[in-house]
Amino acid sequence: PPPGATDLEIARAVTPKPVIEIAAERLGLLPHQLIPYGHYKAKVDLMQLDVSQPRGKLVLVTAMTPTPAGEGKTTTSIGLCDGLNALGINTSVCLREPSLGPCFGMKGGAAGGGRAQAIPMEDLNLHFNGDFHAVTVAHNLLVSLIDNHLHWGNELALDPRQISWRRVMDLNERALRNIVCGLGGTAHGIPRESGFDITVASEIMAVLCLAEDLHDLQLRLSAMVIGRRRDGSVVTAGELGADGALTVLLKDAMMPNLIQSLEHNPVLVHGGPFANIAHGCSSLMATRTALALTDVVITEAGFGADLGAEKFLDIKCRLSGLAPDAVVLVCTIRALKMQGGIAKADLALPDVVAVEAGSVNLLRHIRNVQQFGLTPLVVVNRFPTDSDEELAVIQRCGLASGVRVVSAEHWARGSDGAQALALAVQEQLSAPKPELTLLYPDEMPLDEKIYTVATRMYGAGEVQYSSAAYRQLEEIHQLGFGHLPVCIAKTPYSFSSEPAILGAPVNHTLPVRELRLMAGAGFVVAVCGDIMTMPGLPRHPAALNIRLDERGEIIGLC
Ligand code: ADP
Ligand code: MG
Repeated sequence: PPPGATDLEIARAVTPKPVIEIAAERLGLLPHQLIPYGHYKAKVDLMQLDVSQPRGKLVLVTAMTPTPAGEGKTTTSIGLCDGLNALGINTSVCLREPSLGPCFGMKGGAAGGGRAQAIPMEDLNLHFNGDFHAVTVAHNLLVSLIDNHLHWGNELALDPRQISWRRVMDLNERALRNIVCGLGGTAHGIPRESGFDITVASEIMAVLCLAEDLHDLQLRLSAMVIGRRRDGSVVTAGELGADGALTVLLKDAMMPNLIQSLEHNPVLVHGGPFANIAHGCSSLMATRTALALTDVVITEAGFGADLGAEKFLDIKCRLSGLAPDAVVLVCTIRALKMQGGIAKADLALPDVVAVEAGSVNLLRHIRNVQQFGLTPLVVVNRFPTDSDEELAVIQRCGLASGVRVVSAEHWARGSDGAQALALAVQEQLSAPKPELTLLYPDEMPLDEKIYTVATRMYGAGEVQYSSAAYRQLEEIHQLGFGHLPVCIAKTPYSFSSEPAILGAPVNHTLPVRELRLMAGAGFVVAVCGDIMTMPGLPRHPAALNIRLDERGEIIGLC
């Protein structure tokens, strides 16, 4: 591809290998263990494969506080996978599946970028193997069973005003955030308020990503709370008898998807829970599959380390018993500048002073990872505009906090650009496995868990509850769910709940507006500030640039 080529053009210039070849040569899979979806993507058939014995080491890729454009966690995860494979280390990478919402809304790829991409990126970005369809339909089957239950006499005595199970679709659709359904008279159901969330915000997406197997999937689906009775007691999907049918709809979606990187290394892409109201990591099944089949597994957790890494460790690792063998913390000069107070439009201009000012943010993230007993390796994801003076600032941060800093150019040069990073990770992996210390024990009361994350990760001085949140806190304890971990939903752009507060703020207040029990997923969401579970499209949506060219090939997808 010519210089200045788009991600899509770079991706298309590489001819993918048949996925059965990747599966056989790289993962050692037999033909019956793979279900091909066309030539270049497949599902790994978990009915035909035992993935309970891990052989690989796990590397978590996280980041400093990002700019809205993203700092390259996915790009770095893929670049590192290619870099380690280039050293002869059998490595795979596990990523989340992208949602159609951002694809047609804000420009922003989910398959990496430059020379570190997963292909075929068109397939990955659109309808990928039907998983999101399955989650959407399962979610909406449950709501149709609920409305039907009301229609036929409401034996469970659900309060139509307290049904918390909404509807989902995988698009940005602000006009459907709040709706009234059941209008039209007695033949057309019971009128009530409802609304739509985006599919990645469905509890079912989180359930799919944390389930150990189909049996565990069904138990979790059964435990999901759908609403309440007038006396306040909860009604679950299991009480409605929905868990069997939901499990059937999700059976194939439970199997991880296999594609490849531009350098033909295995990429498992599976599940895509929101990183705010859910835990933001690809599926446990994909991680287990990759750990059973390759020597090193790279995986990414959404947003900065305050959200992504914290949830990866305190939720996914806690529930599964997994623990990372190494942590890579991605930073960019542009994100440091943004944390140093530079406006978005000026991030490409050299500014050592701003980088220095923003480095407090990186230092806080380094310390946060260290609080888990882990030592992050800081990688500077290099942009063409970065200067040596700016890079020297990050080197000094590393020295000051006793961690190693390497810079990487996988975006521009693929595995060649990730050599230093790959060698540093290899070295880290040959050291004894670090002892993971979770931030809080299960038995700690929920409010103390929230306080622990707020003070130790975010630098907050206190946590403030709305009266509704305080009541919900009591209720969740009374219902017997106080032992669950917390999943804090807050802005990814600040350690505080205010996107405009940059750097490493201290003594701020974390306002908890609402608590949501996700009994199936197995965590309690603490909603802090405004969070969106159904995004809207921007004034100029990416959809307006996406079309087929005269040869029938997609253009405008990024
Ligand atoms: P994240 O996973 O952290 O959200 P991505 O890896 O998706 O970030 O990268 C965000 C965007 O930035 C993508 O469009 C990617 O192509 C671009 N990008 C990543 N690294 C670089 C780099 N070193 N130089 C230029 N663009 C980059
Ligand atoms: Mg990403």
